[in-house]
Amino acid sequence: MNENRLFFQTRWRIAASYAVVMGLILSLCGLGVYQAIVHAHWQTLDRELEFVAGTLHDSVESTLKQPGRLEAATQKLLPEQMEQRHVLGAVHQGDYYIRFLDRSERTIAFAGLQPEGLPLTSAKATWYTPCDKRGNCYHQISLTLHTQDNIPWGYMQMGRSLRDINEYLANVKLILLLGLPIAMILVGGSSLWLAGLAMQPIYQSYKQIQQFTADAAHELRTPLAATRATVESALRTPHTFNPEVQNILQTVERQNQRLTGLVADLLLLAHMERRTPLRSQLCCLNDIVNDLVEELAAMAIATEVTLLSNIRVYKPLYVVGDEEQLYRLVSNLIVNAIQYTLAGGKVTAILERSDHHALIKIQDTGIGISAKEQKRIFARFYRVNSDRSRASGGSGLGLAIAQAIVQGHQGSLQVQSELGKGSTFIIRLPLGVTSSKSKIRSY
Ligand code: ADP
Repeated sequence: MNENRLFFQTRWRIAASYAVVMGLILSLCGLGVYQAIVHAHWQTLDRELEFVAGTLHDSVESTLKQPGRLEAATQKLLPEQMEQRHVLGAVHQGDYYIRFLDRSERTIAFAGLQPEGLPLTSAKATWYTPCDKRGNCYHQISLTLHTQDNIPWGYMQMGRSLRDINEYLANVKLILLLGLPIAMILVGGSSLWLAGLAMQPIYQSYKQIQQFTADAAHELRTPLAATRATVESALRTPHTFNPEVQNILQTVERQNQRLTGLVADLLLLAHMERRTPLRSQLCCLNDIVNDLVEELAAMAIATEVTLLSNIRVYKPLYVVGDEEQLYRLVSNLIVNAIQYTLAGGKVTAILERSDHHALIKIQDTGIGISAKEQKRIFARFYRVNSDRSRASGGSGLGLAIAQAIVQGHQGSLQVQSELGKGSTFIIRLPLGVTSSKSKIRSY
């Protein structure tokens, strides 16, 4: 399957699309899991703070007598003078700070952790997440304190360091971020394999159709050649037939020629699709363009079209490839340009160089092709306007053959066109060597 460019590209395209979609789904899942972990940690943290701060709050409130003043009994409860480890054991783990504020929110006492430069936050908001000068953040709860006589005393703020939680979340993030590319590689590999499996039956039937076309074209050659020989020999003896019969024979000969050309085109396409190795030789594009302009001048004159060549390079351009096929490629495009240009129009074959590529542009002032049709004209047997094309003797294989030849030479074929104004077909071929036949670049 890999030897067929269309199937090879389609397989990779399917695999890439699948990998992108899966990547997005996995990223969303990863984000969801991360958010769930963060949420669960904050929930636990809130509950832990509520419990620890609530316990201390109740103990402290029972000792307060005068608003804004800490009693000796109260101070005993604080971590530095902690005797009741069973009540405030968590505070002793070193992750907490406790701050007492009076009713006007001035700090009266501070215990536990001593964060440097921790901003004083309003005690009105129950939850707050301040950060100190070093960037360490804390989750903080504020509670109102009353004296034993239920007179408002002030506030108590308890904060817990988020360092361990942040470290844990950073590790989770790292695992998810490292896991995603690994998962993507696995998804990419497996989707390539699956795309290959899914395309296998299509490829088999495509190969059968291809084989059938090649066999049918091959089998048709012999009877066509025999018919042609018979008609030609019959025409060579004109006295035997009356003019009417001669007319019929000439029509048969013309149709036979057309059919022979069509069969030859089909065989050529079948050969190129099977990737029959190209004859590799150095081909001079200047010669090809000049020869064809000369050869097709008669056809252009017959249709009253001006055919010109415009060589825009100082040195001859060479490509490595099959000269016969390259002649066929450029000739197909020039013939099309002449056929689809009205009398009085102009067709120019331009040769120029762009970096490491040779450009052959076949420019005409003909009928042009609409944007919609431009995507279809390279398909086999496709003709924009069948009646018009049939009148020109076309079968709809000319551009398909041109594209197959270009692809066989690792090049590209593009069309730029405007309806009613004309078209330009651009062939881009990798250069073999620019000036001397002795320097052949390897491919
Ligand atoms: P055909 O044998 O019919 O010319 P091709 O494959 O060579 O088949 O071209 C396909 C179709 O593309 C043609 O039927 C024609 O309508 C359109 N086409 C090709 N070349 C030109 C051109 N230079 N200007 C306008 N239309 C073009």
